[in-house]
Amino acid sequence: MKLLLLIIIAYLAYRAAKSWVMRNLQSPGQNGSSQPSIDDVMVKDPECGIYFPQREGVELKCGGETLLFCSAVCRDGFLEKQKRE
Ligand SMILES: [Zn+2]
Repeated sequence: MKLLLLIIIAYLAYRAAKSWVMRNLQSPGQNGSSQPSIDDVMVKDPECGIYFPQREGVELKCGGETLLFCSAVCRDGFLEKQKRE
């Protein structure tokens, strides 16, 4: 009867140790995978109409708002149109 008790205790200790090791192995992987998803917001170019990543856009302060263009060429083209109107 003592031997059976010893086996049960050993089994429980083995399970506790195993789950502790699994926790320690998993935690560094979960902390290391942080994806910068905010940088990949797609915005529309008001000049040529194509969509591009916001971080690659060319800014233009127009009135109270900030416009974003896919390139400096589109930004200049937009400014030219504004002047003519
Ligand atoms: Zn454009």
